[in-house]
Amino acid sequence: MADGEELLIIKGNRIVLPDCISSGSISVKNGRIVGIEKGLHRNDRTLEAKVLDAGDLVIMPGVVDSHVHVNEPGRTDWEGFATATQAAAAGGITTIVDMPLNSIPPTTTLDGFYTKLKSARNKCWTDVAFWGGVVPGNQAEIKPMVNAGIKGFKCFLIHSGVDEFPCVAGNDVRLAMKQMQGTDAVFLFHAEVELPAEAESTSKDPAKYNTFLQSRPEAMENQAIELVIKLCTEYRVPCHIVHLSSASALPMIRKARKEGVPLTIETTHHYLSLLAEDVPDGATQFKCCPPVRDAANQEALWEALKSRDIDLVISDHSPCTVDLKLLDRGDFMAAWGGIAGVQYGLSIFWSQASTRGFSLHDVVRLMSEEPAKLSRLSHRKGKIAVGMDADFVLWDPEEAVVIDQKITRHKNKVTPYHNMKLRGVVHKTILRGNVVYERDRVCDHPAGQLLLETEHGSATSKI
Ligand SMILES: [Zn+2]
Repeated sequence: MADGEELLIIKGNRIVLPDCISSGSISVKNGRIVGIEKGLHRNDRTLEAKVLDAGDLVIMPGVVDSHVHVNEPGRTDWEGFATATQAAAAGGITTIVDMPLNSIPPTTTLDGFYTKLKSARNKCWTDVAFWGGVVPGNQAEIKPMVNAGIKGFKCFLIHSGVDEFPCVAGNDVRLAMKQMQGTDAVFLFHAEVELPAEAESTSKDPAKYNTFLQSRPEAMENQAIELVIKLCTEYRVPCHIVHLSSASALPMIRKARKEGVPLTIETTHHYLSLLAEDVPDGATQFKCCPPVRDAANQEALWEALKSRDIDLVISDHSPCTVDLKLLDRGDFMAAWGGIAGVQYGLSIFWSQASTRGFSLHDVVRLMSEEPAKLSRLSHRKGKIAVGMDADFVLWDPEEAVVIDQKITRHKNKVTPYHNMKLRGVVHKTILRGNVVYERDRVCDHPAGQLLLETEHGSATSKI
């Protein structure tokens, strides 16, 4: 049925359109939205169409999660395309963008990208686009990778956690920026730098979260962001700070953006919903870099979302096998840093956002529209409008759910959200007109495509 000729009409009482929330119907053909009618008057076309009635469920554009570590090939036991995209589909996500590291090989060469594509083919329940990576010496790979469909490039300014994806220094960044100038690619930064060692924390208890938190102070992020702003100002290549945790960087971000520096910012569900104060001793499922910080910092991040100083919210889904979390000894300093949660982003965000005056339109902007724009996909993803892909999440924002590892579809189930009570339940996820998830069940057929089209080209690799 994928992309068939049949007309599909999705009707409902709460469709989140760009300018309003309305009852109405959306006509879908060949995977695209071909018509939108407000109001639930009788539609003659329904006679010839398949009709899906959403009733009182909210119909929103599918969520776009532009920060997901799939880890296949090479570390598929951490997370693979099938499990990551099934979990994403269960969470109302219709597009993920895969990060270039933790898979082996990493996506830092054209060959590595082709290896990645080969391993993703026929395994995706959502559409998937790809970030490449900048590592020392790979500048010549950048343009060929852009031409092959890479949307942008991520680098680390500090050890990435895996040896095959080394971090870069200022000069490597400059060389990469020169290659990106004149392309549509965006440069993504893991913004933390090493600081001169102070009194070492080795004497402190590694099972205390505070030991880890003190080892990654805000200054590490702030100094890195200062460097990014400097280079972004100089080269005018669009730059993006991934997973901002340090709210004290916001004043300089605000200032730079006001001056027209092409800088965008994301933060994650975990910085907006978890608190350093609440992390139990030894609970390394809460470890990620930069770290989850305190309540005052979290409030400032929420304020920055409201004032639009932060553009978008993503999961930064980064799981590993359970042994690497060292849960038996609870060693925060030695455990793998990365939080798994791609399946629960919409509910996690909405549970907090809805109590802070955020609307469904804010959710669409922060979790669909802006991530689509960042990923160079806004011509087809991120809003309900004629001509766009027919990607929808049908969900009940009032319904309660308790996160349980039994319903978690990530390959590895360890997550700090276990047992958390949330608001918002996804009932159906529709990808280009195909129902890919229907409450508690993913469809049999992996209907996802690999999104390789470039700004001026149209080559989408269909799988
Ligand atoms: Zn990440």
